[in-house]
Amino acid sequence: MNTSATPKARYDAVVVGARVAGAATARLLARAGLRVLVVDRGRRGSDTLSTLALMRAGVMQLHRWGVLERLVAGGTPPIRRTTFHYGSEPVRVDIKDRDGVDALFAPRRTLLDVVLADAAVESGAQVLYGATVREILRGPTGRVQGVLVTDAVGRRHRVEADLVIGADGARSTVGSAVGARVLCAGKHRGAYVYSYWQGLELDGTHWHYAPGVAAGAIPTNEGLACVFVGMPPNRFRVRPGVSLDGLFQQVVWDCHPGLARALHAARRVGKPYAFAGREGFLRQPWGEGWALVGDAACFKDPITAHGMTDALRDAELLARAVTRGATGALVDYQAERDAFAVEFLELSDRIASFDWDLDHLQVLHHRLSRLMARECECVRDFDTSQHASMREAADRTGGCRPLTSPVAVAV
Ligand SMILES: Cc1cc2nc3c(=O)[nH]c(=O)nc-3n(C[C@H](O)[C@H](O)[C@H](O)COP(=O)(O)OP(=O)(O)OC[C@H]3O[C@@H](n4cnc5c(N)ncnc54)[C@H](O)[C@@H]3O)c2cc1C
Repeated sequence: MNTSATPKARYDAVVVGARVAGAATARLLARAGLRVLVVDRGRRGSDTLSTLALMRAGVMQLHRWGVLERLVAGGTPPIRRTTFHYGSEPVRVDIKDRDGVDALFAPRRTLLDVVLADAAVESGAQVLYGATVREILRGPTGRVQGVLVTDAVGRRHRVEADLVIGADGARSTVGSAVGARVLCAGKHRGAYVYSYWQGLELDGTHWHYAPGVAAGAIPTNEGLACVFVGMPPNRFRVRPGVSLDGLFQQVVWDCHPGLARALHAARRVGKPYAFAGREGFLRQPWGEGWALVGDAACFKDPITAHGMTDALRDAELLARAVTRGATGALVDYQAERDAFAVEFLELSDRIASFDWDLDHLQVLHHRLSRLMARECECVRDFDTSQHASMREAADRTGGCRPLTSPVAVAV
C-alpha cells in the first residue's frame, strides 16, 4: 500500500480532503492510471457530523466498487425498509432488490471514510493524514499548479499537480483560494441535534415529520441507532435551564410521542451532537487547473440526507470528465452535476424552511423520490459507460437556476 508520509514533488492530481468525496475521487482517478496524492488535515478514522444515511444511488456505487462488502463485513446492518411518518400516518417503503442492491446502509463515518480511503490507496493513490493545505500555487498565467502542504510534524512541502481538487468540505480552502463563485444559494437552514442509542428496536429507517419539526431513527453499526431531531434555527436557541439533551427530548415528543416512548426504554450512548445549520449553495466546480467536489462544490441542508450520495455521484462524474481529458470535459462535469444538484438544493432548501404542512411536505418528498430515481438511472449508466441520460437530464434542466438574488456572490 502506498502510505508514504512524504509527498513527492509532482502528481497528476492532488485531492484535498480524504472523506467521501475526496477518497472516492482519488480511488477512481488512481484506477484510471493517474498519479494521485490525497491530503487531509484530520486523523485517519476520525468522526464527523453526520446522521449517516446513504441513498440507493450511493449504495449502488459502493457495491460496484467492492466497498459495500467491506462495510457489511465491518458490521453495518442492512436497512430493508424505510418508513415516513407524516404525523401519525406511516408510509412504508420496502427496499427493492435491484442492480445488485437489496438494502440501504448507514455506516458510521469512522468506518465509511476509512474504507473509501483504503480503497484509494489500494488503487495506487497516496493518502497523507494530518497534512493541511494552506495555499494554492499558481503559474504565471494564474493557472493553479499545485499546493503548499504542511505535514503532521510541521514540515512544508511544495507539491505540483496538473489538477488540484478541493474535496475539503463546505468551508473549502481550495474553493476560497481559487475564488469559486456561488452560483445558487439557499435561503433556509435547519438546526439538528442527534445522538446514538442502544436498545432501540427498529425495522429499518424511520423519518418523522410534524408541523415545524422533524426526527429520524437510523440503524447503524454496533447495534446502535442514530436518532436526530431537526428544527428551524429560532427553536434551536438554547434557553436557560434547557440542555441540548432536553431540547432533543422536547422535539422528539413534539414530533412523534411513540419515538419518545421508545427512547425512554433505550439507552443513549455518548454525548449529543449539534449542528446549528448553514444555508445551501452551489459553487462553480472547476476552473484553470482546479475542480471542486462534494460539499466543497455543493452543500445542502442535511434534512434530505443526500450529501454523501451527491458526493459519490459527483466524484464519479468528475473522475470520468478528468480521465476523458477532452477539452470541455469539465464543462460537462458541471452540466451533469447541475442536472441533479440544482433540484436537490432547491428541495432541501424548501424542506429546511420547515414552512410546510404535511400534505405539501409529501409533495416535496415525491419530487425528491422522482429525482432520486433519475439519479439511480444515471449511476446505472456509469456501469454501461453511457452518458445519454445524464446529458439529456442536463439539457432538460438547462443548468443552474438562482434560488436567491443576487445570483452570484464571491466566496
Ligand atoms: C448534522 C449533519 C447530518 C448529516 N447527515 C447526512 C446523512 O444522513 N446522509 C448524507 O448523505 N449526508 C449527511 N450529511 C452531509 C454529509 O455529512 C456531507 O455531505 C459529507 O460529509 C460531504 O463529504 P465531503 O467529503 O465532501 O466533505 P467532508 O466530509 O466535509 O470532508 C472534508 C475533509 O477535508 C478535510 N480538509 C478541509 N480543509 C482542509 C485543508 N485545508 N487541508 C487538508 N484537509 C482539509 C477535512 O479534514 C475533512 O476530512 C450531514 C451533514 C450534517 C452537518
